[in-house]
Parts: sequence; C-alpha cells; structure tokens
Amino acid sequence: MSYDSNNIFAKILRGEIPCKKVYEDSHVLAFHDIAQKAPVHILVLPKGAYTDMDDFTKRAGADEIAALFRALVQIARDNKLDQSGYRVISNCGINGGQEVPHLHLHLLGGKTLGRMISA
Ligand code: 5GP
Repeated sequence: MSYDSNNIFAKILRGEIPCKKVYEDSHVLAFHDIAQKAPVHILVLPKGAYTDMDDFTKRAGADEIAALFRALVQIARDNKLDQSGYRVISNCGINGGQEVPHLHLHLLGGKTLGRMISA
C-alpha cells in the first residue's frame, strides 16, 4: 500500500485538522481518539509517513521506532495506566480493520477491557 498523504492523520499532523493533543516530540504525536472506546483512548503515531507496522519496521530509523514505543509507555504513565494496566492495538490492513492508512497505536485503558477480540 503506498502512502496517501490526504489521509486524516496526515492532515492532523500538518495542522490542517484540529486534535486534542496529549503528547508531542520530534518523532511522535498523540491525541485523543474522536470516538473513544474506553475512558482513556489515545492514538499514538509516528510523524513520518508510514502506512502500517510493516511499512514502519521496513523504512523507519531505529530512533523513530524507539521514540514511538518510548512515547507510548510514557503516555500510559502520564495517564496513570501503568498501575491499572492497559491495552495497545495497531490495526493493520484489511483483516486488521485499519481505517486510517497512517500507522497508529491505540492506547486503551481506564476500565477492565474484557475480551481481546469479540467472537
Ligand atoms: P483504525 O481503525 O484505523 O485502527 O482506527 C482509526 C481511529 O481513528 C478510529 O478509532 C477513529 O475513531 C479515529 N479517528 C478517525 N478520524 C479521526 C479524527 O478526525 N480525529 C481523531 N482524533 N480520531 C479520528
């Protein structure tokens, strides 16, 4: 899949569409999901133009990969999820149910989340 620079997260990264930002550094932006599925539902994404995990791990630098996962864990701590626990999901491609073709991690928590996948 080639990167579509008109996807909604690319527009958020360019500042063309607003978001409720919770974290930003030189490689990473994180903001609240517009359709929260849990009391805490934050999207954590690399600023680089990567479609999904496959693309990211092929083309991103080690610094970008480390930054994404360090930011994710820091955001979990900042939102007091480290004691109670949380879930991280990245939907990739058609079977993964990915809607927005810019890599993002869903950070979910704030309640018991139940089964990982509905039957
Ligand atoms: P996916 O299915 O691609 O893993 O998840 C895309 C997520 O992006 C969904 O949870 C959806 O609610 C969220 N989303 C879609 N459009 C927007 C938007 O304009 N702003 C924000 N903050 N979230 C969005």
